[in-house]
Amino acid sequence: MPHALIALGSNLGDRAAHLEHARAALTEIPQTKLLAFSGIYETDPVGPAGQGAYLNAAASLDTALEPGMLLSHLRAIEQSAGRVRHERWGPRTLDLDLLLYGDCVMQTDDLTVPHPRMTERWFVLKPLADIAPDVVHPVACKTIAQLLDEVEKTSNK
Ligand code: ADP
Ligand code: MG
Repeated sequence: MPHALIALGSNLGDRAAHLEHARAALTEIPQTKLLAFSGIYETDPVGPAGQGAYLNAAASLDTALEPGMLLSHLRAIEQSAGRVRHERWGPRTLDLDLLLYGDCVMQTDDLTVPHPRMTERWFVLKPLADIAPDVVHPVACKTIAQLLDEVEKTSNK
């Protein structure tokens, strides 16, 4: 079964409860097995000013679902945590992003895989390195551990 990596984030309401809700909900996705869930990291917000800090985590799944179908399930989980979409990158109860789906490289109107901003985001790479350090990014051709190392060297984080 293809291996999918997911990023989770929350910066509104009971952030830890939202991540816990997501972890439980990931185990309920059909034809999918939750393999690992990372530690939880508190990180500074990126995007519009005035938002609270995030809690971030990552999960790995084996799934028989196609990427678009998997994204539909992730969106349903976001909505079940009370997410309302306002401004892009604004505060949210729960954000679930599909980072990698095996070696798949694809772009449709509502899904880009690998997630285009994952290679520059410490808050994505740090939890991901807990559970998938040796997974190779199919475009950058570097492991998650290498990408994290590069981000940590080029930023102050
Ligand atoms: P972001 O996660 O970048 O902060 P949103 O969660 O508001 O922003 O998502 C914006 C849109 O990004 C979603 O409507 C979704 O269709 C699209 N999208 C494109 N690629 C992905 C991906 N790999 N994972 C999750 N959403 C994606
Ligand atoms: Mg998102």
